[in-house]
Amino acid sequence: MRTNTASPGRIPRIAPLAAAAVLALPACSPVSGGDAPDPSAAPAPSGGSDPAGADERGSGADAAEDSAQGPLAGTTVVIDPGHNGGNAEASGEIGELVDAGHGRKSCDTVGAETGDGYTEHAFNWDLSERLRDILEDDGAEVVLTREDDTGVGPCITERAEIGNEAGADAAISVHADGGPSSGRGYHIIRPGELDGYTDDIAEPSRRLALDVRNGFEEGTGQQRADYIAEDGLDERTDLGGLNLSDVPKVFLEAGNMSNSADAADLADPEWRETAAESVASGIGTFLRRQQED
Ligand SMILES: [Zn+2]
Repeated sequence: MRTNTASPGRIPRIAPLAAAAVLALPACSPVSGGDAPDPSAAPAPSGGSDPAGADERGSGADAAEDSAQGPLAGTTVVIDPGHNGGNAEASGEIGELVDAGHGRKSCDTVGAETGDGYTEHAFNWDLSERLRDILEDDGAEVVLTREDDTGVGPCITERAEIGNEAGADAAISVHADGGPSSGRGYHIIRPGELDGYTDDIAEPSRRLALDVRNGFEEGTGQQRADYIAEDGLDERTDLGGLNLSDVPKVFLEAGNMSNSADAADLADPEWRETAAESVASGIGTFLRRQQED
């Protein structure tokens, strides 16, 4: 939890600098008691004190202040929950071929499923929401590439574009694999170098992959995949979501849905919370290091 020295949600504003500024310049703080014009403000009642502006502050200020705090304040993370709940019913739409940066691929796919019928899109969505909440609590601005788990798509091209437009400091696609039922474990996929596409993000994405792997492994104790990748890391040049990204990006394949032991973990809400915390920790490590550079 956060440090709450007083009534939650109100007080914890930005620290000493802003407080000092407010003290020194009372005319610039029409926030508190906005309806009663402070006589000391009379010399410069100017711009900022229009009623509409005051109203906006009233409703939006808390969120803005929250996001301005915490170790990840000032950073933007894009979370891309793979697939979508409506994809299975929209094969035409998601089957459309798009330019994936290295050949053409389907706009989107349906995703995997456990033997018990727990779908990958539902898993991806749940984990992404948990991850978003944690990162936002830490002060990051978070953008999701889809708004619920009942729609169709978006195409992999758009998923990448959302990260680019947000100018994300880090982007992560959340998935679970549909491998051979005998295979266990998680892996992280990073973009291989593709001239004109990923040559600019390959190196930071490699660091992101390592940080997410370390965080995930430390937090969940999940084993590295024994049927794919190497040391829990894979490098691919066939994924549009990576090839078209202009920001550091990786895919998390959190486990193998076809394997009953992995599936039991993936379907467990407590495990997912731990997984979200672990991924957040890895992303946090990456972002803090970026900020220091
Ligand atoms: Zn997937």
